[in-house]
Amino acid sequence: MKITQIEIFDIECPKRPKWHPVFVRITTDEGLTGVGEAGLAYDWGHSAAAHMIKEIAQAILLGFDPFKTELLWTRMLRESFWGLGGGPVIYAAMSAIDTALWDIKGKALGVPVYQLLGGKTTQRLRTYASQLQFDWGSEVKPLIHPADYARAAEKAVHEGYDCVKVNPMFYDKDGNTQFNLTTIFKQAELRLYRDRLSAIRTAVGPDVDILIECHSLLSPTTAIQFAEVAEAYHCMFYEEPVNYLNPALHQHVAQKIKIPTAAGERLYTRNGMRPYLETQSVAVLQPDIGLCGGFTETKKVCDYADLYNVMIQAHVCGGPIATQAALHLESAIPNFLIHEHHCYATKVWNRELCMQDPQPIKGYFEVSDAPGLGIELNDAVVKRSPMMSVK
Ligand code: MG
Repeated sequence: MKITQIEIFDIECPKRPKWHPVFVRITTDEGLTGVGEAGLAYDWGHSAAAHMIKEIAQAILLGFDPFKTELLWTRMLRESFWGLGGGPVIYAAMSAIDTALWDIKGKALGVPVYQLLGGKTTQRLRTYASQLQFDWGSEVKPLIHPADYARAAEKAVHEGYDCVKVNPMFYDKDGNTQFNLTTIFKQAELRLYRDRLSAIRTAVGPDVDILIECHSLLSPTTAIQFAEVAEAYHCMFYEEPVNYLNPALHQHVAQKIKIPTAAGERLYTRNGMRPYLETQSVAVLQPDIGLCGGFTETKKVCDYADLYNVMIQAHVCGGPIATQAALHLESAIPNFLIHEHHCYATKVWNRELCMQDPQPIKGYFEVSDAPGLGIELNDAVVKRSPMMSVK
């Protein structure tokens, strides 16, 4: 079997201008297709990933045997020049392509991808409602007042979730996004964040788990300040307290706080994870299949983390293909903890991008049993966006 065509979609959503999932669809001479997604749907970098996929396609994909994922991965790593350095653009492109080839392999063999990864370890995947500060409903909006946080959490729990995630520090008292929280929190600031968290805890009761997201915005000082609050409300884990530019920051915070830490969505391959695992700076690792290296590398990352008894929650903030890929991986690893369902994954402008619409039922997911990933692009929608084709 040979690859004969690569289509790349840099999605534009008129209803959500800042949202750009990047999809790849690879076609073979036997008429099989596979889809993958680069993990740069949000913020800056999507168009770079789309063009990197195009360059890899032109350089080595045409005529390649889609079953040889290990060989392809090594070639992308070494022949791209940039693969040996790292960074989101090259790894997002490599990840999208690798994911699509696993989809093709599954379809060619007539089995779902989770079977190729070793078969199911988990039948029903516990799922949490992610990023309540953007509200939980049909629209994305910044939540300011503690009562709004309580209502968002109540909506999620009403849908059956028994775990929610929030960044109570993302917006200031006026609703402005805060990109730098690296000084020392003033008491008034801390009180606002505490009141938001307190409102959620009161609304959901003692048995719903609350995850704290920090988006790497904090310094060790502010991270330790707010960790005391998170501990007082018995939160389950503390995500991305500090940035990844210096792994010693994570190690320092992890040693100072009692709440388990989580991180990994901005790390690539086993090499990127290594300092965090070796120093036992994370309790939960969050590789993004669309950034970490596709199934080929992310499965190895999960097994590597298992050496340290580190649990896995695949990071998911993308289109429906990203969700579907995470479900296959998480179903087949020994150290699965919980699945992330981002509030963006519940929105019409995201759900309409594929023919299938993976959504949890009462806070649990079951992975598709269809051959491959079990998801296809909705051409009627994605073809409205800019696309490139290599053949
Ligand atoms: Mg996160």
